[in-house]
Amino acid sequence: MAEIQTINLLIESLRKLPGVGVKSAERMAYQILDMKEEYVHQFISSLDGVINRIGKCPICGSYMEDNICPFCNDETREQNTIIVVSSYKDALAIEKLKSFRGKYHILNGSLSPTKGIGIKDINIDSLLKRVSSPEVKEVVLATNPTIDGETTALYISKLLENYPLVVTRLAYGLPMGGQLDYCDE
Ligand code: ZN
Repeated sequence: MAEIQTINLLIESLRKLPGVGVKSAERMAYQILDMKEEYVHQFISSLDGVINRIGKCPICGSYMEDNICPFCNDETREQNTIIVVSSYKDALAIEKLKSFRGKYHILNGSLSPTKGIGIKDINIDSLLKRVSSPEVKEVVLATNPTIDGETTALYISKLLENYPLVVTRLAYGLPMGGQLDYCDE
């Protein structure tokens, strides 16, 4: 077989994307081969940026390109309420609703005994640091209504019991197992 190593590698890389099987990966790879060079360069540059320009915000755990993320950098946001979500995608889903003007805290994961994800694997320590500030009055737990999300919310609400805070759980109106990033406005 006349295999070309670089094309195989491209197909293998595309297959790492969720929901992409061999056939789709091959189709995408051949489309990339036919693309204008400037678009391929744009791809390369954006992927390179993922490694070299994107970091995690030291305050809230969101993605950032500078020293602080756009959420924490936004001084028009109310300081007294923090909404805790599992992922950056979930924060964006809440942003789309345009009804929350407080700050975010992104855990970058959920506690999951079955997947071996424990408290040290998610961004909880910096949350405790943040809620120690007297400015913070309320924490809304908006982890997803899945088993892992509920476990995480329960654990954090226990941790926050000793702080002078109002701790609430986001009411979803979503079916069981429904996830924030799949809901629309
Ligand atoms: Zn931040």
